[in-house]
Amino acid sequence: MRRVRVLIVEDERKLAQAVASALKGEHYDVVVASTGEDGFFRANAEAFDLVLLDVMLPGRSGLEILRTLRQRHIDTPVLILTARDGVEDRVLGLDLGADDYLVKPFALPELLARVRALLRRGRPSEAFRLKAADLEMDLVARRAIRGDRLLELTAREFELLEYLLRHQGHLVSREMLAREVWKEPRRATPLDNVIDVQMARLRKKVDSDATDRLIHTVRGVGFVLREGEP
Ligand code: CA
Repeated sequence: MRRVRVLIVEDERKLAQAVASALKGEHYDVVVASTGEDGFFRANAEAFDLVLLDVMLPGRSGLEILRTLRQRHIDTPVLILTARDGVEDRVLGLDLGADDYLVKPFALPELLARVRALLRRGRPSEAFRLKAADLEMDLVARRAIRGDRLLELTAREFELLEYLLRHQGHLVSREMLAREVWKEPRRATPLDNVIDVQMARLRKKVDSDATDRLIHTVRGVGFVLREGEP
């Protein structure tokens, strides 16, 4: 799987560094451009999955960059970063083809959530497809298929299956699921039951009409998604 590449065009050095390190923490490849010219050059010359674009930049404004990229049919998702009083910038930015905006100052978890949402909406690529046996997930279209059967999954079941697929062949504990899928930092007993119920529903949808089971329970420990067992 190739890594997701993000371009940050931001002249405020401290902010650019904080955003870059938050994104690196999520295992994205990050490139920082600190002037409008450099940002424009890179966005034109290199392939990115997402551009974070400050509006007020020395050299060339974020909105000018955005306009030119869209005129050249470079349709990489763009998240613009605007000042609190920059209402017109936000409206103009969205009109020019920005995919979302965030008002400064923003919290980094909020930024990461927006980034994830935009990447899900972005164009299909190798990075956004997962596969095991005849099970396939398209993370962009938010679609899961087993054989020729489209799986009707809830949002939570989708996330759960995605997590299992990303860790296929490896044991996934309830604690990992609570932390990574349910985003609960501390594991609570009631959540174990919720996880078991959700997992039972998911397994029914994934495995009940198939000859090979993919999702297995490891008693007392957790679950594993594995190919090639009856
Ligand atoms: Ca700026």
